[in-house]
Amino acid sequence: MFDSLSDRLGGVFDKLRGRGALKEQDVRDAMREVRIALLEADVALPVVRRFVDQVTEKAVGQSVLKSVTPGQQVVKIVNDALVEMLGGEETVGLTLDARPPVVIMMVGLQGSGKTTTTGKLARLIREKHGKKPMMASLDVNRPAAQEQLAVLGEQTGVATLPIIQGQQPVDIARRALQAAKLQAIDVLLLDTAGRLHVDQQLMDEMKAVSEISEPTETLLVVDSLTGQDAVNVAQSFSGEIDLTGVVLTRMDGDARGGAALSMRAVTGKPIKFAGTGEKIDAIEPFHPKRVAGRILGMGDIVSIVEKAAETVEAEEAERMAERMAKGQFDMNDLRSQLRQMQKMGGLGVLAGMMPGMKKAKQAMQSSGMDDRVLLRMDAIIGSMTPKERGNPALLNAKRKRRIASGSGTQVQDVNKLLKMHQEMTKAMKQIKKMGGLKGLGQLFG
Ligand code: GDP
Ligand code: MG
Repeated sequence: MFDSLSDRLGGVFDKLRGRGALKEQDVRDAMREVRIALLEADVALPVVRRFVDQVTEKAVGQSVLKSVTPGQQVVKIVNDALVEMLGGEETVGLTLDARPPVVIMMVGLQGSGKTTTTGKLARLIREKHGKKPMMASLDVNRPAAQEQLAVLGEQTGVATLPIIQGQQPVDIARRALQAAKLQAIDVLLLDTAGRLHVDQQLMDEMKAVSEISEPTETLLVVDSLTGQDAVNVAQSFSGEIDLTGVVLTRMDGDARGGAALSMRAVTGKPIKFAGTGEKIDAIEPFHPKRVAGRILGMGDIVSIVEKAAETVEAEEAERMAERMAKGQFDMNDLRSQLRQMQKMGGLGVLAGMMPGMKKAKQAMQSSGMDDRVLLRMDAIIGSMTPKERGNPALLNAKRKRRIASGSGTQVQDVNKLLKMHQEMTKAMKQIKKMGGLKGLGQLFG
């Protein structure tokens, strides 16, 4: 299935090869194939339409990187937009820092994986968060549903609310809250009754439980195989109750995960976890990047474009080093260096990159420098006039005061930045004496 897709795209790319900026027709041609890819991944049709329109608009006119084709560039733009829509770089965990017992309410269709996920999350809460969880089943519709949760509790050693036959969900919820308070439980997980279809009686019951238990998290559990129906599920639940997040189950199957995009588009809420099997530890934080790759199924093309972008960045760095060595390194250059550092993930990633950087990072941290400092320095440079940026020597006491107040910082912060600029310039001059960056490379070599 993926091969034929690549073949089709290959055809489009050949047609597009060799053009400069992305023209509307180029983008539309590539987007036709993207649209098919998204539908094959089971993204719901209205979501596909909206997504394709948005990205088309964004892509037209963007320039194409050297050494990639316009079609490849479109795929990268689509991929980035997908990642963004699925939640960006970050994974989003549970909110557990409210007053205990923190209540997590699980909702969703029957068979979506609510009970299983309740057990998985309870285990995570104990093992990873070091908190004391308790589970309670409010499912009085399905025979043996409450026993199913009790068995999960025994397997994992997590307490479950004792079953009293004949009690209604709202009463069970009340009893669970009381028990949780008495037993100093940190987190109470409420596993509600599922429904085959959206059904008003069950929706009302869910709302009543929500009102009395005031959950910190209300998680909609969705089977990733739900496909085109995902939009209806998301719409009906988020229309009735305030969701805080989504859990996508059965991501271990061969679903390409299009439901993720549909859920996100309709609820606007983060997808927090992915279920990856029947076992109790088969749960992972939801990684937007990985899932975007799976939905689009064009990872090779995305990495070609990423490599090309890296080359451009490397050339930019080389150019910067030359300016530094010639003593032309001004505040504009420093700012673009700072932004580059932020883009690479702040100071944290630098440490992992080369042996010498670990020490440099420790030194920066011990002098009180962290990622917020990068932002503050950026703001200081932003408050300088273009003239001052080009020639930092202009900065007398009066100008420094103006810049500090303009950037919401102190004069001493402005001084620190100037000192850093001076030291970088000095270091670069020394590197030049030793034979430039190539000489430096031999030193480390
Ligand atoms: P509920 O009706 O929403 O409570 O759904 P259950 O938790 O009872 O799950 C229904 C079935 O789906 C069970 O057989 C589970 O083992 C299975 N299941 C749940 N989550 C996953 C998952 O992430 N991967 C796989 N492969 N199976 C799952
Ligand atoms: Mg259940």
